[in-house]
Amino acid sequence: MFDTFPFSILESLTDRQIPILVVDDAQDNLDLMEALLLSEGYENIRLASSGPEALATLANHSNIGLVLLDLMMPGMDGHEVCRRICQSEQWGHIPVIMVTGAALRRRDALNKSFSAGAIDFLTKPISEVELLARIHSALTLYRERVMRQRKVCEVAESEEKFRIIFDQAPVGIAHVDLNGRILLVNRRLCSILGYADGDLLERSFEDFCQGQHGACLDEGVKDLIAGEVAYLAVELALVHKQGSTIWVHLTVSALWEPSGIPRYFIYVVEDFSERKRAEENLRLAATVFDCSAEAIVITDPQANIVKVNRTFTEITGYADETAVGKNPRLLSSGIHDETFYKSMWATLTAFGQWQGEISNRRKNGEIYPSRLTISAVKDHKGEICNYIGISADITGRKVAEERLSFLANHDPLTGLPNRTLLGDRVQHAIALANRRGSEMALLFLDLDRFKNVNDTLGHDMGDLLLQRVGERLSEHIRKSDTLARWGGDEFVLLLETIRRGEDAAIVARRVLQLLTEPIEVAGYEIVVTASIGISLFPKDGENSQTLLKNADTAMYCVKESGRNNFQFFTPEMNILAQERFQIESDLRRALTQKELVLYYQPQLEIATGKIVGVEALLRWQHPGRGMISPNQFIPLAEETGLIVPIGEWVIRTACEQNRQWQEAGFGKLRMAVNLSRLQLNDHHLAETVSQILRETNLQPELLEMEITETVMMQNLQIGISILQELGALGVHLAMDDFGTGYSSLCHLRNLPIGTIKIHQSLIRDLPAATDDLAIASAIISLAHNLRLKVVAEGVEREEQLAFLRHQACDKAQGFLFCKPMPAAELEKVLTQGNLVRNLG
Ligand code: C2E
Ligand code: MG
Ligand code: MG
Repeated sequence: MFDTFPFSILESLTDRQIPILVVDDAQDNLDLMEALLLSEGYENIRLASSGPEALATLANHSNIGLVLLDLMMPGMDGHEVCRRICQSEQWGHIPVIMVTGAALRRRDALNKSFSAGAIDFLTKPISEVELLARIHSALTLYRERVMRQRKVCEVAESEEKFRIIFDQAPVGIAHVDLNGRILLVNRRLCSILGYADGDLLERSFEDFCQGQHGACLDEGVKDLIAGEVAYLAVELALVHKQGSTIWVHLTVSALWEPSGIPRYFIYVVEDFSERKRAEENLRLAATVFDCSAEAIVITDPQANIVKVNRTFTEITGYADETAVGKNPRLLSSGIHDETFYKSMWATLTAFGQWQGEISNRRKNGEIYPSRLTISAVKDHKGEICNYIGISADITGRKVAEERLSFLANHDPLTGLPNRTLLGDRVQHAIALANRRGSEMALLFLDLDRFKNVNDTLGHDMGDLLLQRVGERLSEHIRKSDTLARWGGDEFVLLLETIRRGEDAAIVARRVLQLLTEPIEVAGYEIVVTASIGISLFPKDGENSQTLLKNADTAMYCVKESGRNNFQFFTPEMNILAQERFQIESDLRRALTQKELVLYYQPQLEIATGKIVGVEALLRWQHPGRGMISPNQFIPLAEETGLIVPIGEWVIRTACEQNRQWQEAGFGKLRMAVNLSRLQLNDHHLAETVSQILRETNLQPELLEMEITETVMMQNLQIGISILQELGALGVHLAMDDFGTGYSSLCHLRNLPIGTIKIHQSLIRDLPAATDDLAIASAIISLAHNLRLKVVAEGVEREEQLAFLRHQACDKAQGFLFCKPMPAAELEKVLTQGNLVRNLG
């Protein structure tokens, strides 16, 4: 009842204003009492004429402060009413004074009344003074009782309040004793740790700390007890019942006893795991944002920049302060038109994302390509709250792509279009010519004797020369024409539109003309010539492949007919070219198919007529074409590189043959073997020769190597060192075809050669031709002065021999004595011994 009791009203009431209930079955008594009380100033008198009426009145008036109760009443007597009032929870605090006239039974009634709960007893006739005194003290008691009750209520209320706070608190709270044991926990702490409160009580708080955290807490609590800190505030990791980590802020304070010892500790535990996770995520996001290699821009829904990252600043040159608040339009390059941006926004609106390449402008004005992704970010209501633009500067990639595509289409050495690009251009030109009904020309250009440059000056110089040639030609071609490097020393010039075939001849002539000017390469002045073959569209082919092949064929014909010229393709050339091609592929098989043989031609000592040596001469026994002479296939073998293995076979076969003849007792014969230009470039030549000598067990001085004068003069640098290596092996060296090159005899002094062979063209017309006669005799006497032996080649007639004998020429070789022949035949000749004597 006290929840609703009007305490404040009671406080403001005077005693006289407190309602008093008078209960008596006699109306006279009621009237008398009322009159008496009213006259004494009591303002609020209620009257009841029976017990039940009295109880009803009490029920209706909560603030009655005193009941004056007649003892003797019919029905429910005063004792019963008193008992009901005093023992009720509702009215127990209302003092009851019993009033009775039955003086005789006073003691008995008194006892009964008091035991029923009455506080006082008045006897009729009532003394006024006594009544007032009793009323006064009863009302005082009433006030006290109410106030006490109010206290009780208040305490209960506040306890309830605190209990609710304790339990409903959004933080965990525990009371922990000095030993760290949990005395009390609230609901929140239970839910933080995942236990029912019963499971936590009496447990040590440290049990719920992770790892070292318990020990740290323990240290802190010690400081608290020592009074070093007023309270303890720490961040701790606790372990949830399920095993997960819970991050908490823990505040520990102590409730102190007057003695200065804590009675217990109050732990306030605040779970901030969620916040910590969020913080961690934020930190991570911030790191990603800051460290991203891509530029990031965040805008508001109106596309005003809200934030940019470091990379954005690095790429664009706009600092955060400058960019924020602006529209990303500030990067606009002006390259894209309105439609571009419109379609970007349309995609963004429809799909929430746009991706593409875009050209932007940096603060310094530079335009750069960028790959951009824009995403719309929506809030929980589904409305766009931000746009995020992530972009990468792809300048590097673009450059690399361009470089790659350049490399894919250009020759790295000269920077000229390569075969691939040329193919495209030719195709394009064909299509164009087809449409217009016009003509088009392809010029296939091959530098003459370019190998010599490579061989004598080195590959680096060769490369430089190719670059210069490319440059010079490029300078003089029309924009619409294409000069491409085909490979090696070959170039192709595409003339997209010509009026007639003759135009191509004009260009070819101009190209040859351009090359007559010496080209300077690293201090050397080099003159190169070229052979040019021309094919015309549509006459010489309908596609690029045929046109290129035919121009190439025409170029070969130029080569064969003396170089430094140009020629148009004719169908007959094709037949020749095909034949050439056939021979070339046949030659590849010749070695393995054992189609190559050596013929041998003796060399005689003129003075004695004795056979002192033999020259090995290569023959190709072609299965279809019969015997092919070396002059026909050796240039081809040189071009294809096949000469190296073929040459090695020749040396080995000749040495082997010579050793057999030695063993057969034909006396000491020197075997002469011809060396090709390419073999002289082979650094392993001496090594190979020495190994062959070892394998065939032939004395080195029985082997002679012939190198033509021209080759030797063209390869002076490399040649000499290889000749010296060969000489060091003990092998003899001879200069072949002397008189056809341009060497001065003085040069011979520096070469490690022992013999020169006079070319048959100088011998042919002897002794009739006086010029040749003078030259031949001069060569012989000069050679002798240099202590060189002289061999005359191509001796066919007696008078030639007579002349040579007269000039004291050392040796002779020619049809006069013997044609080159297979080994078996030569053996017969050898058994005859002296060929000159046979001549008679
Ligand atoms: P060479 O070294 O000057 O050989 C001499 C050439 O003159 C041979 O021609 C030979 O048959 C020919 N000959 C010999 N006596 C007479 C004659 O009295 N009158 C005429 N008119 N010719 C005569 P062959 O055998 O056709 O060889 C031609 C060239 O091929 C050789 O010229 C040599 O430079 C080269 N050759 C031959 N065999 C080889 C070889 O195994 N390796 C290399 N690299 N070149 C070789
Ligand atoms: Mg020879
Ligand atoms: Mg010769």
